[in-house]
Amino acid sequence: MSGKAREIHLASRPQGWPTADNFAHVQVELPEPAEGEVLVRNLFMSVDPYMRGRMNDVKSYVAPFQLDRPMEGGAIGEVVASNSADLAVGDTVTHNYGWRDHAVAPAKHFRKVDPTAPPTLTAYLGVLGMPGLTAYAGLTEVAGFKEGDAVFVSGAAGAVGSVVGQIARALGASRVVGSAGSAAKVSRLLELGFDAAFDYHDGPVRDLLKAAAPEGIDVYFDNVGGDHLEAAIGRMRLHGRIAVCGMISVYNATEPVPAPRNLSLLIGKRITMRGFLVQDHARLMKEFVPRMAGWLRDGTVRYDETVVDGLDNAPEAFLGLLRGENTGKMVVRI
Ligand code: NDP
Repeated sequence: MSGKAREIHLASRPQGWPTADNFAHVQVELPEPAEGEVLVRNLFMSVDPYMRGRMNDVKSYVAPFQLDRPMEGGAIGEVVASNSADLAVGDTVTHNYGWRDHAVAPAKHFRKVDPTAPPTLTAYLGVLGMPGLTAYAGLTEVAGFKEGDAVFVSGAAGAVGSVVGQIARALGASRVVGSAGSAAKVSRLLELGFDAAFDYHDGPVRDLLKAAAPEGIDVYFDNVGGDHLEAAIGRMRLHGRIAVCGMISVYNATEPVPAPRNLSLLIGKRITMRGFLVQDHARLMKEFVPRMAGWLRDGTVRYDETVVDGLDNAPEAFLGLLRGENTGKMVVRI
């Protein structure tokens, strides 16, 4: 069973903010699955901030996307033809062949999942997948969260940030503070159990954070960088810990961005600031998945998704993610 597939390719590398012109919509012939391969029809794909870095031709922790080749990323699909004993037609699988409607590849590149286990299939791309593990590992292992810590997370209404705040709450934080980019997102954070939240457009982050965390913070989970990071360093208590997860405020910068001006506070406050990559914490998945499944079942953790329809709209979904148009995980229904 061969046929045609639609793919989104990287057409050109952006300078600064990406645009629709950086993407090409391409139709390709699909080969028959060879021995050991399967054909998967994608149902949903993920768009994630790290993909912005892969559009640049720079050496980083993940290889750049290649020009005129399909982009890649997390996706979930259904096996529609199999030439492997390991996967059967009808199996639901997660994998990294996103940005296309069909993929033919070795069965070992796909992970079979139970489609009935989570509340939505897309949870595998969000709260039960890479972003969820990022939140869990960053908070517990990287920031060394302890019961009673006051936690601040930026990008708090996004896929990672919303989970960070709710896990902190579940594990006994004394205060959970989040920042996000709109009043609606702030309201949502309060509904999710954050003690305080602010829209970072409403004034200097330093002042907004001071009002939201008058007694200071022990942990900052950084998704944003820039003025958020500087403000968090300023509010840190002694022996504070910063998990540097992402710095989305600089991903489209064309010039080097200045560091926080108050870095010297790290010394007197004995602050630990540590960057991390979720893949280095993959062994936590075994502990994380059942724990998160339990939190989802009993309502301790809730998750939002913003679903964009159609593979053709995937570039727009990605650009929307960078502009903050998502609440919770941004996914594309294919
Ligand atoms: P989100 O779902 O949080 O989406 C990105 C959000 O970033 C937008 O919704 C927007 O929300 C916010 N944003 C965009 N520009 C700015 C800005 N200039 N200042 C403040 N906020 C901004 O994405 P994820 O949850 O998937 O990722 C969150 C962060 O975690 C990213 O920095 C990402 O790179 C990082 N990450 C790191 C990993 C690791 O292994 N280290 C793994 C996964 C993610 P708003 O409306 O609030 O502005």
